[in-house]
Amino acid sequence: MTITLSIIYLIASITFIFGLKMLGHPETAKKGNLIAAAGMGIAIVGTIFLNNLNVPTFVYGLILTAIAIGTVMGWLIAVKVEMTKMPELVSLFNGFGGASATIIGLVEFSKNVGDTMQTTTTMAAIIIGSITFSGSLVAWAKLNGRMKSLIRLPKYNLINNLVALGLIAFGAYIVYTGTDSLILLYTILVAALAYGVLFVIPIGGADMPVVISLLNSLTGIAAAITGILYTNMVMLVGGILVGSAGLILTIAMCKAMNRSLTSVIFGTFGGSDDAVSGPKSELGDIKSTTASDVAILMNYSQRVIFVPGYGLAVAQAQHAIHELEQLLESKGVEVKYAIHPVAGRMPGHMNVLLAESNVDYDKLAEMDDVNPEFKNTDVVFVVGANDVVNPAAHNDPSSPIFGMPILEVVDAKQIIVNKRTMNPGYAGIENELFYNQKTAMLFGDAKKTIQTLIAELKNM
Ligand code: NDP
Repeated sequence: MTITLSIIYLIASITFIFGLKMLGHPETAKKGNLIAAAGMGIAIVGTIFLNNLNVPTFVYGLILTAIAIGTVMGWLIAVKVEMTKMPELVSLFNGFGGASATIIGLVEFSKNVGDTMQTTTTMAAIIIGSITFSGSLVAWAKLNGRMKSLIRLPKYNLINNLVALGLIAFGAYIVYTGTDSLILLYTILVAALAYGVLFVIPIGGADMPVVISLLNSLTGIAAAITGILYTNMVMLVGGILVGSAGLILTIAMCKAMNRSLTSVIFGTFGGSDDAVSGPKSELGDIKSTTASDVAILMNYSQRVIFVPGYGLAVAQAQHAIHELEQLLESKGVEVKYAIHPVAGRMPGHMNVLLAESNVDYDKLAEMDDVNPEFKNTDVVFVVGANDVVNPAAHNDPSSPIFGMPILEVVDAKQIIVNKRTMNPGYAGIENELFYNQKTAMLFGDAKKTIQTLIAELKNM
């Protein structure tokens, strides 16, 4: 490797670290993303042209054509994707990362036979890459509704753990014996692909965010392993950063869902599709209200907290809610946003959405900080959120979200819930909050409803 290439890799690694750091705040996130992407760009160009690949010229043509096709496809998909479909896209990208590591492992296998260290790395790349690939495709299919949210085979825990142990044993056997048997290699490949499917199919509903960030972390680990395989510093650093950032996010998500990481890994994870927190008849009647009544209520309140959820994102109501916030503040009402860590369809979804409409970052309150404040709040306005305010998480041990920390909106003096129908949220369960004495339902699309509220308030 030339000195220039080493310097390029060093610069690229630094851009990844700075880029990642800048992703930590909405104001700097876009720039951070661009800086890291530029670093990746120079690393790719350097790798192709300064690495003395020793291949015929037409191979450069093939490489550049493949890059051009990938770039155009990635660009088009990323530009077109709706904010609410981002987790699906992230899942697909995770899967492609895993597939790349697997292909590298397969290509390098026969070259590395006999070298214990290299064969270990190759095996790890194939196993982790394949699990990530098939697991991510299943996660993608679940997120876009192509696959049932939760499929549990009989004794699925036992089956999954046996397949996992089998993979480790087979991998160790190949490394120990130094065999070049392609039959064994492809058996491992198929078993690892099967494990990815088996690992993700029993996980359902509200537990998907944790799985997505875990798969994201695995993609990073797979990339880091291929970095070791090629003694390529930039792949190693990039992979470690993705792997560790993904793992930190997984742990944060586990905390937000009140799950342990071991229960994720060893398959005792996720609720049941059948669990429904109480039939409707037991929950009583709902009370519905009108935009003009809600406008009056908010106008004469001192403190209002907005609880945005997935429905706000679907309705693209982020600008409207910001306008409502500013209008209320101009009338002397104190307004805040309560942000649940898994509100929406991806970690940080609500923060990004609200930052897009220039909501002051200081107005966003995290769950633990805001929960004690609800009891002193006149009105909580829940907009397109459901699971993250569902008291079943506290009251109903049979509920799939039991144990998940929620926004304790029920403590507020009045609760207004805006959604279109009485349909459940992502976890597919009833929400007794809607039947609470203090709750009134304001039915309608979030954006249109908020715009009507704004018009009513302006007339007062
Ligand atoms: P939910 O999915 O629980 O509820 C969203 C609600 O929005 C629905 O009940 C729906 O009701 C309503 N809605 C949909 N469209 C509109 C609209 N146009 N206007 C008004 N309301 C609308 O969302 P939450 O944010 O409360 O919870 C997130 C859930 O998603 C959690 O279960 C979480 O675990 C899961 N999840 C989170 C991920 C993450 O990383 N954050 C990733 C994947 C899943 P209706 O149809 O009646 O309008």
